[in-house]
Amino acid sequence: MLLEEILTKITKNQNNVAYTVGENQYTYKEFYKYVCNIYRVLLIKNSSKRPVIVYGSKEIFMKATFLACSFAGMAYVPIDIGMTENRINSIIEQVKPELIIGNLKSNIKNISRNEIEKIMNEENYIDINKIYLQPDDIFYIIFTSGSTGLPKGVKVTYRNLESCIEWLKYITKIEKGVILNQASFSFDLSVADLYLSLVSGSNHYILEKQEQLNFKLLFEKLNKSKATLAVMTPSFADLLLLDKSFNENLLPNLKTILFCGEKLLKTTVSKLYERFKNLEIINSYGPTECTFAVTSIALTKKILKENNIPIGIPKKDVEIYIVDDKLNKLKDGKVGEILIVGQSVADGYIGESKNSFIKYNGKNAYLTGDLGYKKEKMIYYQCRKDNQIKYKGYRIELADIESNLLHLNYIEKAVVIPKISESGKVTKIIAFVKLKENIEKKELEIRKELLNKIPEYMCPTIKIIDKFPLNKNGKCDTKKLIEGV
Ligand code: AMP
Repeated sequence: MLLEEILTKITKNQNNVAYTVGENQYTYKEFYKYVCNIYRVLLIKNSSKRPVIVYGSKEIFMKATFLACSFAGMAYVPIDIGMTENRINSIIEQVKPELIIGNLKSNIKNISRNEIEKIMNEENYIDINKIYLQPDDIFYIIFTSGSTGLPKGVKVTYRNLESCIEWLKYITKIEKGVILNQASFSFDLSVADLYLSLVSGSNHYILEKQEQLNFKLLFEKLNKSKATLAVMTPSFADLLLLDKSFNENLLPNLKTILFCGEKLLKTTVSKLYERFKNLEIINSYGPTECTFAVTSIALTKKILKENNIPIGIPKKDVEIYIVDDKLNKLKDGKVGEILIVGQSVADGYIGESKNSFIKYNGKNAYLTGDLGYKKEKMIYYQCRKDNQIKYKGYRIELADIESNLLHLNYIEKAVVIPKISESGKVTKIIAFVKLKENIEKKELEIRKELLNKIPEYMCPTIKIIDKFPLNKNGKCDTKKLIEGV
């Protein structure tokens, strides 16, 4: 299985670079030592095998801890340092861990970053002698935006991940090389680069948050990386494309870009093909609830003649149906909800009744909330049927922002609306708020207080208004609100 395969690859590639972050590079030999040392400590300090929270920002100890957890038979829960305190508390409350790794203050047993780095580096380590994780055990729990205002944790099993990585190996034709990482480990986009690097003995090349914010540094890093495969969101590619030097001279070894996470536009693909002559572009689709992705297509120039780029065909152990509200299958060309059935469907949310997780023909299924249609076997994404959006590649429930605004006790009403460009991309999120009587607050003050509750990428521009315009049905006229911005 996957973990045995990874163990073999690590042992076979001892002298190759396993991980590059900042100025540091680590070989597979070092990485193996880290994993072995952490594994021993986990078996002692987390004997209950409760899920382990791993808090950090893509340091090597995070990846080593993830793998050590899996070998030791426990799930891991990645939390990025960009997460706010109240959301971290909610995650801790939901997960009920007995061990946290990283610099997180709480009353749970904790191994700090310094301590874990010391443990990792002990020279007299013992090999991994037993892999404890079973196929139906939870491999990781990734938290995503929830409409109640609290993050919800998706439980992904070993079986789910195994099937995902087998498929990713096949569609990317993975070879040993350099795999570029964009996403934080708390987003499921990173699952592809985390595990493809391990199964191919590749160098996992990390782009840190601060490097991504500084174009000069970012381009230097990209050039140094000699990346062969990049996993990214279309928004990140659009950002890179703003600079003319993002081309095959900058990344001469780049063979494949694997996209996932949001709608891929024709303009993005066309520009990439102009700048990289021999690049393969793969569009893949799927929610965290279905383990990274479930459909894919390698885009040919012929496909670019279509207006809407397809999201591809399902992986072989998954079926996808386009259904109406009563779960009746719709005919080709008809728009309905995308229903995912089969091996990739996760084990539900932590602590929640399974709501969108259903049984379909006796199999595990997930109602995505995405609208789409089929043409022959090819699937096309159209839009969401609810108030979930993608902004700069991040998944956000608008109700999550609204609910957190209403927790500021001076706000009477809040309506959060995305501003959408002609091409269908969210360019801004605006929160219209009405204050309670006799309250004096500035828009920036509200934003600052909201930043204590939700991460920066979710935080909208605030507009204070006295009255919400109503439409003919007496509901808030969101069109009118957004027109004025
Ligand atoms: P996440 O759980 O963050 O991966 O977000 C999942 C959601 O992102 C899906 O339900 C879709 O709405 C959207 N999404 C993911 N991949 C694609 C894609 N290739 N095209 C369009 N939307 C996508």
